[in-house]
Amino acid sequence: MESATLLVNTGITATRHGAALRFQEGLYQVSKQGYAWMVPNGSWGETNIGLIDCNGKSVLIDTGWDLNFTRHMLSAMQPVLARSPIETVINTHADGDHCWGNQLFKGRDIVATRACQEQMHHTKPAALNALQHSCKALRYVPFGGMKCFSHYMDDMLAPYHFQDVQITDPTITFQQEHNLCLNGKDIILYEVGPGHTDGDAIVHVPDDKLVYAGDIAFIGITPVMWSGPLENLVAGLHKLLSLKADIMVPGHGPLASRQDIQNIIDYWDFVHEGIHALYQQDMLPHEAASHVMHSKAFLQSPYARWDCAERMVTNAFTLYRHWGARLRNLPEPMGTLDILRKQARVAQSVAPLLGIPPA
Ligand SMILES: [Zn+2]
Repeated sequence: MESATLLVNTGITATRHGAALRFQEGLYQVSKQGYAWMVPNGSWGETNIGLIDCNGKSVLIDTGWDLNFTRHMLSAMQPVLARSPIETVINTHADGDHCWGNQLFKGRDIVATRACQEQMHHTKPAALNALQHSCKALRYVPFGGMKCFSHYMDDMLAPYHFQDVQITDPTITFQQEHNLCLNGKDIILYEVGPGHTDGDAIVHVPDDKLVYAGDIAFIGITPVMWSGPLENLVAGLHKLLSLKADIMVPGHGPLASRQDIQNIIDYWDFVHEGIHALYQQDMLPHEAASHVMHSKAFLQSPYARWDCAERMVTNAFTLYRHWGARLRNLPEPMGTLDILRKQARVAQSVAPLLGIPPA
């Protein structure tokens, strides 16, 4: 990440999930007044968080998945926060890894799209806490792929502690566009959802030619589309490119180049084409995703080198839903968990082809 200066290096030697580091964790200065807390490698909960120094006050873009990691991030941000305390928090979307640290900012303005606020209560911290504990027992259930599912979820959730998390709502919501001017520093929020989630926003700092993309952009990690439609998600990526920023901070992974964003657009084209052909042959979504992932076209593509390739299963389910497929849907949160159970199985079946050692 040549265009960024590492100001505070936490010195970790492996990721939260135990992988070798692709970049160093810490607080980076990415522009004159823009900063990013960057967490390698960008897997589950390894979320990048923005900070904009507005001459004596600052704006935080997203919080962490739990209070421990949010506090850890705040201590690394002290060199900036000592001169410019946080005045305003923005949530780019409702996924827990971007807003479950909000309660540490009670009393400050918290800004998000209206759709983000509405979605924020869909997943409860208590439910994830219960799931985390039940993973240990599910490991011994000898049917339904539960052993594989419990390993998958346990690996995903193990670094985090959800028992103290209280969902803390935004205090200011908007639709389409919102201008936040703090001490004369312009920060423009654009609603680009629904796509990754129901209420995605990107944050533009024109003076710094800087944009924080939230989770419409994953770099080196397979993107995921929980909500769709795909057209919106791709339009959001084109919007990102149209801002002509020099620096783009993705929600997960290292800083993005314009080519990286184009690669994500190309991934979505690839997935759309591959999955749609199998949808027309009446294949079930997880089978279609598995089929595409086992194909030569996928295995020889750059997408096979991105982490969490199995997210194509979730992406296939979302595409099918928007194509009007009549799927047997369980009530939430069981529906999402059932998709993740299928995703865990596909991850296991494709791992040897991707050179991933068995769990
Ligand atoms: Zn995220």
